[in-house]
Amino acid sequence: MYKIRNALARFMYGRNGVDQLNVALLWGYILLWIPQFILALTLRSGLLDLLFDLAGLALLAVMFFRIFSRNLARRRAENQRFVNWWWRMKSSRQGARERHADKDHKYFTCKNCRTICRVPVGKGNIVITCPKCGAQIRART
Ligand SMILES: [Zn+2]
Repeated sequence: MYKIRNALARFMYGRNGVDQLNVALLWGYILLWIPQFILALTLRSGLLDLLFDLAGLALLAVMFFRIFSRNLARRRAENQRFVNWWWRMKSSRQGARERHADKDHKYFTCKNCRTICRVPVGKGNIVITCPKCGAQIRART
């Protein structure tokens, strides 16, 4: 057992291994089974089934390629981009939920720089000056 572990460690030395992006690819592969299973029960389309098989295989191929890749700089950059994107998705969804729950304020997105401006409810027609870029937003609260 020790010999195998040692050989594996030597083989994996200098390779990318499992990072967050590879875990996500594996999840994508597993989650593909759900629509594939439903489609197999309802549509019974051989072509769609094949397409799902191919998509799953492609995900697995990319994952294994990334695990055994020796181009660490590039793999790390890919992983970082993915982690950043995931974090933005997560925080923007959470932010949207919090803004929805906030009944005392209204939120406007600046058309110029996409900053979200918060104003109290019940002020009528107002002009908001964006704190970041100074653009004016006409709004009704
Ligand atoms: Zn702005």
